[in-house]
Amino acid sequence: MDLNLKKHHDELLFLPLGGANEIGMNVNLYHLNGKWLMIDCGMGFAYNIPGVDMMTADISFIKSQRKNLLGIVLTHIHEDHLGAVQYLWRELEAPVYATKLAANFLRTKLDEFKLAPQVPIKIIDGSKELNIGPFTLDFIGLTHSVPEMQAVMLKTSKGNILHTGDWKFDPDPVVGSVSQKDKIRAYGDRNEILAVVCDSTNALSEGHSRSEGDLYKSLKALIAGRNGLVGVTTFASNLARIHTIARIARDLGRKVVLAGFSLHRLYEVGKKSGYFTEDFEFISDREIKFYDKKELLVICTGCQGEPNAAARKIATDNHPTIRFSKGDLMIFSSKIIPGNELKIFELFDELAKKQIDVMTEKDHFVHVSGHPSQDELKELYALARPQIAIPVHGEFIHTKTHCEIAKECGVPRVIQIENGAVIKFENEDPNSTSTIAKVKSGYFGVDGKQLLDLNGEVIRERKKLQFGGIVMVSLVVNDSLTLQSEIRLTAVGSYDLKKDRDAEDLIKKEIQLILKNKSRELNLNSGFGLRFLQKKKKSKKLKEGKIIGEIEKTLRSKLLKIFEDLMGKRPALEVTLHLI
Ligand SMILES: [Zn+2]
Ligand SMILES: [Zn+2]
Repeated sequence: MDLNLKKHHDELLFLPLGGANEIGMNVNLYHLNGKWLMIDCGMGFAYNIPGVDMMTADISFIKSQRKNLLGIVLTHIHEDHLGAVQYLWRELEAPVYATKLAANFLRTKLDEFKLAPQVPIKIIDGSKELNIGPFTLDFIGLTHSVPEMQAVMLKTSKGNILHTGDWKFDPDPVVGSVSQKDKIRAYGDRNEILAVVCDSTNALSEGHSRSEGDLYKSLKALIAGRNGLVGVTTFASNLARIHTIARIARDLGRKVVLAGFSLHRLYEVGKKSGYFTEDFEFISDREIKFYDKKELLVICTGCQGEPNAAARKIATDNHPTIRFSKGDLMIFSSKIIPGNELKIFELFDELAKKQIDVMTEKDHFVHVSGHPSQDELKELYALARPQIAIPVHGEFIHTKTHCEIAKECGVPRVIQIENGAVIKFENEDPNSTSTIAKVKSGYFGVDGKQLLDLNGEVIRERKKLQFGGIVMVSLVVNDSLTLQSEIRLTAVGSYDLKKDRDAEDLIKKEIQLILKNKSRELNLNSGFGLRFLQKKKKSKKLKEGKIIGEIEKTLRSKLLKIFEDLMGKRPALEVTLHLI
């Protein structure tokens, strides 16, 4: 079902390229009158892919439409909403719209990629509507774990869509303003909302999310009686939480030490954007030695057990300046993201081995989510009264449950969507399918500064290397395929040839035999050698230029069989034949 853009030129369409099948990697597209608008351009976690921890969406569809892409609107600073801009912007080259905080944060990332001067960033002023082609954007501030979270009311001639971004209804968000429920209610009362495209992260959680303000009291009580060093690890992007912890530190007479690059970056960006203005006392980790343990509170990165983050370094005594010991406390003010359990439990174990006390959300009230529970979803539908609900930002189980909640709330049309599905909003026969087309969707792995197709050659090879290692064979031959130097045979991560000289001899003999047979088969001693055959237009079996490749192929398949006998599996194997 390809997308016929001519046929649907005048229609209001929705197409998620990421975030509809998962929590993370949000990339949403809206279409009207042949023009596209992207809301969010985020990253996702990658698992079990060697060398790749993060991934972006496959954006090849919108890349092919980039002349019609009017802009990229970022709802807030979280990585799953803006983290892919520095990787994908060159392929899109559209202006980026962000609040001051998100813009400052994005600039630091673009700087790393030397992209900052090229990317036009327009600052969102939430109090004014913004016109971008056929779309008018009315921003609605909602509470989340970071300030300046902007839901977008996308106003169009075909109806209005509320794209929520990440949100909760928190009466005391610690930083930033409370949710602008009245704005949503006003649209709802006028029956002006065609569709709500909404966060499903906590659709399985009953009740109402707890407030960041409540967390202050709980964390403070847990830390108040401690005499040793206290560490709190949290998501480095959780600006509200860092404020909460800094307030507790201040109120308990402790100085705050930040540990971890991304926390320092958030602090700097926050300061630049008008946050961290209270009388907090932040000190550098080099100043720790001047204070008693009970005068300090360390906020550190690594709540997901990341191997190179500060919490792991502290737990293994590898941090250059921060030392935890018996009786000190590490609080995990975060949730365990599915997929990260192993790394996190390893970290708990490291801390336990050193007799450091550990508190997590499993045993204490040390974390609140930034996403809506079921009661908040119901409240939103009651306020917005949309014709259509499209749950996003969730695994299948979350969006499915969210669909049921929306139905219970009386939303007439509820659509469970997947990445790459193109949805037509206009209300036609309610029994007809909403998906009018499917476009290519998928994932690209972030590998240092390059992006790799997760279904592509490089990743396939890398996985093979990871599981079977590699064998490299290099041969120098003359025109009649006679060896001109010692065969170079190198096995890396595959088979220990140094311990098994017999195997090495066997392989080398086999190579010599193959070369001899090939030479005879091709009659290379008749005066017409390899070079002649290479140039010859068409020999019986071999096409021009392919002869060396064909010999390499024969060698490769024979040697693979030998290694399969030796190892019980096949390594990656490279054969290079140099003709001199
Ligand atoms: Zn978020
Ligand atoms: Zn998110």
